[in-house]
Amino acid sequence: MKITELIESGGSLQISYEIIPPKRGGSIQDILDMVEGLVEFEPPYIDVTSHSAQVYYEELPDGTWRRHVKRKRPGTLGICAAIKSRFSIEPVPHLLCKGFSREESEDALIELNYLGLQNVMALRGDDSGYRKPLVDDRTMNEYAIDLVRQISDMNEGRYLEELMEAAQADFCVGVAGYPEKHFEAPNISWDILNLKRKVDAGAHYITTQMFFEYEQFLEFVERCREVGITVPIIPGMKIITNKRHLQSLPSRFQVHIPEALAAEVEAAKPEHVTDVGVEWAIRQCDELLGAGVSNLHFYILQTVEHVSKVVRRLRKLA
Ligand code: FAD
Repeated sequence: MKITELIESGGSLQISYEIIPPKRGGSIQDILDMVEGLVEFEPPYIDVTSHSAQVYYEELPDGTWRRHVKRKRPGTLGICAAIKSRFSIEPVPHLLCKGFSREESEDALIELNYLGLQNVMALRGDDSGYRKPLVDDRTMNEYAIDLVRQISDMNEGRYLEELMEAAQADFCVGVAGYPEKHFEAPNISWDILNLKRKVDAGAHYITTQMFFEYEQFLEFVERCREVGITVPIIPGMKIITNKRHLQSLPSRFQVHIPEALAAEVEAAKPEHVTDVGVEWAIRQCDELLGAGVSNLHFYILQTVEHVSKVVRRLRKLA
C-alpha cells in the first residue's frame, strides 16, 4: 500500500518509525529483532535509511583506473524486503542522490518495483566525508528534486534511455522538510519554496527533520500551507536518551534544543536522562495530537525501549 493511502485510511493516531541498517558486516537479526519489538504497536510503515556511497578512482601503475565504491551501511533494500516478507509491514527505503549515478538510481528503483515496494523517500544525502569523492558530478542527481523528477518520469514510463518496452512504475514518493530550515538555506521561506518545488515535481508527502518544540512544527505546516503545499506533512520525533545528545544532535542535524530541555537533561543523573527525554517527547506529541496531528514518525537508533515507553503512553492518551 502507498503511504498516502495508509495515512488516509488510518485512525486518530498512526505512528511510523525510522531505522538504520547495521554497519557493513553487521547482522540483520538485530534489525529484525527491533522490528519485532515494534510489531505490537502496529506500525503502518517503517523507513529504512540509506547511506551515501563514496565513489573514487585510483590510478594504477599501468595508467588505467580502478573504481572504488565505499558504503558504510549497505543493505537498505534487503532490510526492506525482509520487513515486508516477514512482518507484512510496509517498508520505505530511502534513496539518495549523493554518491549514486542516475543509472544506479534507476537500477535501484527497478529493484524496488520488482520487489513490489511502492514507497520511496527521495533525499539528497550528505557527504559522509571519509573520502573526497571523485565521482563525475554530471552523472548524479544534484538535489532531491532531481531524484523526485527521475522517479516521476518512471511513473510515466520514461526511463533514462528511450526504451521500446517501458513499464510505468507507481511509486509514492516522500521528501524531507525542515521546520528549522535546512542548514544550507539562507532562510526558511526560500527553503519552503524549494520544498514546494519538490512537491510540484511529484512528491506525495513530507516527513520532517526532528525538532524539540511542537510550535516549530505547527508554524512550519502553516507556512507550507500558505505557499500551496497540500500534501501530508509528518512530524519527525526524536527522544533524547543521553547527555551527549545535547551537543551531537544540534551539530549533526542543525536543530535547536530548547534551554528548558537542556537544563532538565543537564540536571538529571545519567541513569535518569532517558526519563527526561521520554517525558519531553510525550509532552510534544500530546500537544501535536491536541492540534489535530494524527501521524507521528519516530527516529530510532539502536533500541526500541525508549520509543516503546512513549508510544504506550500516547496510545493510552489517544
Ligand atoms: P534537498 O531537498 O535537495 O535540499 C538541500 C538544500 O538545497 C536545501 O537547503 C534546499 O533549500 C536547497 N536546494 C534545493 N533545491 C535547490 C536548487 N535547485 N538550487 C539551490 N539550492 C537548492 N540523509 C542520508 O544520508 N540518508 C538518509 O536516509 C536520510 N534520511 C533522512 C530522512 C529525513 C526525514 C530527513 C529530514 C533527512 C534525512 N537525511 C538523510 C538527511 C538529508 O539527506 C540531508 O538533510 C541533506 O542535507 C538534504 O537532503 P534533502 O533531500 O532535504 O535535500
